Amino acid sequence: MRPPAAPEAPGLEELWRSLLPLGYHPASGGYRRFAWSAADLACRAWFTAQAADRGLALRTDRNGNQWAWWGEDLPGKALAVGSHLDSVPDGGAFDGPLGVVASFAALDLLRAAGWAPQRPVAIANFADEEGARFGVACAGSRLLTGQLDPDRARALTDADGVSLAAAMEAAGQDPDALGPDAELLGRIGQYVELHIEQGRALVDLDRAIGVATAIWPHGRWRFEFGGEANHAGTTLLADRRDPMLTYAYTVLAARKKAAAHGALATFGRIRVEPNGTNAIPSKVSAWLDGRAPDEATLSALLAELESAARERAERDGASFLVVNESLTPVVEFDHALRDQLAKTLDEAPALPTGAGHDAGILAACLPTAMLFVRNPSGVSHSPAEQTSMADCRAGVHALARTVAQLAGTPLAPEVSA
Ligand SMILES: [Zn+2]
Repeated sequence: MRPPAAPEAPGLEELWRSLLPLGYHPASGGYRRFAWSAADLACRAWFTAQAADRGLALRTDRNGNQWAWWGEDLPGKALAVGSHLDSVPDGGAFDGPLGVVASFAALDLLRAAGWAPQRPVAIANFADEEGARFGVACAGSRLLTGQLDPDRARALTDADGVSLAAAMEAAGQDPDALGPDAELLGRIGQYVELHIEQGRALVDLDRAIGVATAIWPHGRWRFEFGGEANHAGTTLLADRRDPMLTYAYTVLAARKKAAAHGALATFGRIRVEPNGTNAIPSKVSAWLDGRAPDEATLSALLAELESAARERAERDGASFLVVNESLTPVVEFDHALRDQLAKTLDEAPALPTGAGHDAGILAACLPTAMLFVRNPSGVSHSPAEQTSMADCRAGVHALARTVAQLAGTPLAPEVSA
């Protein structure tokens, strides 16, 4: 398979054409842009080149997030826009990159219209948003805002045992510098992240652009099921201590309990030891992604699931342990900002989301908002994720109108139409 066709629009097409081949895997048709990997470094170099082409000042902060500044020396706090360029395993082309590409394209559109900012505008590429390699989502923005301990971050390891510190160091980024950055945060007044919608609400509403209301609370938990490795051909069923059974039961229980609570629960990753076809496992480690409309529901879901798994583990003669690896509380986006965006964008519809974003992390420190662009497939974290050329262009225009409204004088209607 070839990379997806670039959405056609002046300037946009060129941006997509230069980015789409990076980290593309023809066999799956998806992207593997894991934080600090060769593919991610290629994307970061692409970002640097885009900044240079536009005469923007490129700054990499102490946590590896990239910032391209337009009018860095203007008075006032900056309006930041952008998103991320890393991906989940075999992710789609637009989750993250759409926000970064649209930011550069919106800047081009504003400049072509003769518009100039009255306060600084920064385009961000947040490091390691997906957490696909080191297990903590939004690592770059969490470190920036003091929501991830630098020692813990440095010690995170990937599947090959490479630490985040080593991966950053190999990429020329000083891991000792990791940590909260009040000076940088103090320079940013607002952050608006444009993102492909991860669902089908805009399709059903027949609208290209929506404004986010809130992000559901969500977290990741590691379930450890321990048993006894033994021969699959010689061990009587009655004599087995098979942790795979406990795991299998827990997956089904998670689904059932999530449905009962109006929540979401997904086991998407497991590790089996010794991982042999003819061996009863000695250990199954499984990662649960849990999300719910509110925090009380999420903790009730986890408590019920934990007790069900524990009970089942006893029946299977297995050991059981659950460790919370991350937990993000509910995030309400800034009400005044989101209302202003909805008004600026022709009463764009308001949508909640179950997905975490850097805008949600930054919301703890400054007013943030998100714009969603219609995704006809509704699919996300998969090559089936889509956006049309027309909607991509609508996203660029929406972002340009947003930047104009917030960082200077609103655009004339003929420019933003
Ligand atoms: Zn994303």
